[in-house]
Amino acid sequence: MNIIAIGILGLCFGSFVNALVWRIKHKRDFVRERSECTHCHHVLAWYDLLPIVSWMLLRGKCRYCHKAIEDSPFIEVLVAGLFIISYITWPYLWTGVSMVLFGLWLISLVLLTALAVYDARWYILPDKLVWPLVVLGIFIAGTRWIGVENLTIDKALLQIVGGITIISGLYYGLYVLSKGTWVGFGDIKLGLFIGLTLGWQQSLLALFLANFIGLIVVLPGMLSKKLTPKSKVPFGPFLIVACILAFLYSKPMIDWYIKTLLGL
Ligand SMILES: [Zn+2]
Repeated sequence: MNIIAIGILGLCFGSFVNALVWRIKHKRDFVRERSECTHCHHVLAWYDLLPIVSWMLLRGKCRYCHKAIEDSPFIEVLVAGLFIISYITWPYLWTGVSMVLFGLWLISLVLLTALAVYDARWYILPDKLVWPLVVLGIFIAGTRWIGVENLTIDKALLQIVGGITIISGLYYGLYVLSKGTWVGFGDIKLGLFIGLTLGWQQSLLALFLANFIGLIVVLPGMLSKKLTPKSKVPFGPFLIVACILAFLYSKPMIDWYIKTLLGL
């Protein structure tokens, strides 16, 4: 029952991600304006906006001009999937404060998905998404380190400062060294959220995972010469996937590593 409710919530937020990305790209007000078709600008009715259902009924085409709907049902399913796996594999006991953390985490997933989609399409992590995420990271840090993990203030600060240093610090170094060609400033800002949320151990894991995933994705393109060292590859999505994996699965991954690779 809970899983179905969380899945439906995820579909609705996925639909919101589609709208958010489009409205930020086109500099539209995403609070007051009604949703409209991106081609004919016909204002859409509520029955045109049901996640998945409307898309299927309309066979992916606008009811009014019959051009392809730009909003992707894939994003809706993706967010629903992220919500559901977060619920099933939540790494904490379900106490009151852990449920608050879960709520904050779901909001982060919405913003992280929007960021990944935006970066993959337009090679930029927009401030309108990154800064709210950093603010959210501050709330997550307080809830996680003090509320859920019961750390003392100095240990909590060590996690946060360590995490930020590992991701943002490293990227800032690379940014300065490469004069902004290897990493963008957006990645440094995203690193603030990741450091706050993950702490230093999981940030290290996320950094490793991001590079590993990036390599797996980029390598076939490099080998087939579709990508050259000068090709633009957005790093944000790799970092975002790595952050989600590190937050939810650091313990099983580290246990697996110690058992399988170190044979302990
Ligand atoms: Zn239309």
